[in-house]
Amino acid sequence: MRLYNTLTRAVEEVDPVEPGRVKLYACGPTVYRYVHLGNLRTFLLTDLIRRALAFEGREVFAVQNITDVGHMTDESSPDAVDKMLLAVEDEGLQPLEIAEKYTEEALADMALVGIRLPDVLPKATDHIAEMIELTQTLIERGHAYVAESGSVYYDVTSFPGYGKLSGNTLDALKAGHRDLETDPAKRHHADFALWKAAGPGRLMKWPSPWGDGFPGWHVECSAMSMKYLGDRFDIHTGGNDLKFPHHEDEIAQSEGAVGHQVVSTWVHAGFLRLTGQKIAKSTGNVIRAPELVERGLDPLAFRWLAFQTRYRSEMDFTWEAMETADRRVKQLRRHVSEWGEPAGELGEAAAGFDGRFRAAVANDLDMPTAVRVVNDLDRSPDVPSSEKRALLASWDEVLGLDVERDAREGWEPGEEILAKVAERDAAREGKDYARSDQLRDELQAMGLEVMDTAEGTRVRPRS
Ligand SMILES: [Zn+2]
Repeated sequence: MRLYNTLTRAVEEVDPVEPGRVKLYACGPTVYRYVHLGNLRTFLLTDLIRRALAFEGREVFAVQNITDVGHMTDESSPDAVDKMLLAVEDEGLQPLEIAEKYTEEALADMALVGIRLPDVLPKATDHIAEMIELTQTLIERGHAYVAESGSVYYDVTSFPGYGKLSGNTLDALKAGHRDLETDPAKRHHADFALWKAAGPGRLMKWPSPWGDGFPGWHVECSAMSMKYLGDRFDIHTGGNDLKFPHHEDEIAQSEGAVGHQVVSTWVHAGFLRLTGQKIAKSTGNVIRAPELVERGLDPLAFRWLAFQTRYRSEMDFTWEAMETADRRVKQLRRHVSEWGEPAGELGEAAAGFDGRFRAAVANDLDMPTAVRVVNDLDRSPDVPSSEKRALLASWDEVLGLDVERDAREGWEPGEEILAKVAERDAAREGKDYARSDQLRDELQAMGLEVMDTAEGTRVRPRS
């Protein structure tokens, strides 16, 4: 399996440090707000990497953190307000209750789109001691200094590799860097906080050798990734927006603390755009996975939609495309149920399809090609149905579309179909035959056979 490594700017073979076991860390949800489809697209990348490696028969050990320490973009500005505090005020809950609520919601939304839970799901608030320890190590090794305020800063000039991931080297940062940390005690404008002294507006704070405060966001991921995966591990994932400063700072911290490279491969997911606007924390454009369900769409179809675009490219989300994906996934499930029992062995044609699918997935998760292979197989006159069924069932380990659902449960009309059936019966009763015919056409276009019976309209999948 090959992946594009942001660090080397090349597609590379996944070659684990520990032979036979791939260790992976993913930046997880921030739990004072809901996760949206943009976050889920990023988490889907991690899920796909894990599934694709397992599909190749490899063992994967995955860690994804929960960021339950409130963070602001501008945490050391005197006017900054703790976002966790804002949520506390808005919702009348205590910080840990807020964190618990949004953690549960995030995990439920991830499950809705078929994202498998990681092996370990560490919470930042359970690892404050490890973060303090890492900060102390960085001070001892000359990479960090304590300011009069009680905040501890990373000295970026002490780490020659700063900027190697994102290209934002110190030279590049001299021009036009937005200075987000305004503490005058900072030696270089790009120095970032490992530990922040708690101001008056701070609800979540912990004692430390430097006074009451809270950890910087970046230090959380360095401390938790190395605690669970050791100081050399294979893959680190996240959204494109985390490359800088989050991941750049994580490299400076982890490598500064241990003195060698920690992460082999950095993989970043592209943005999801909604009507041309980036769905990110800063915009108001937020669609959540449960909204798909409310609209009668299968949330697993979001996977099929995401597969149409390479993970590194920006992806446009439209409801129309989502509905098309939903219809296609339901159609595939129906076909699988019609293909009968799965074959035990594959003929030559089926083996050819299998090879194409596996090659696409192993090629830096080329899911648009994998989707084409699925569509080609579905239509192919050369592969017996029983072999199609066996192939799709096996590929579903990567696709995660629950393709055998209809075969397992028998076919049931969905809400959309039932609504059209009811509307058609009403139209016929009102002798509005033009509308009735139109609805019959629409039902047929959904792959259904439409029958007029004494009890009204009946539908079943067209075989
Ligand atoms: Zn992170």
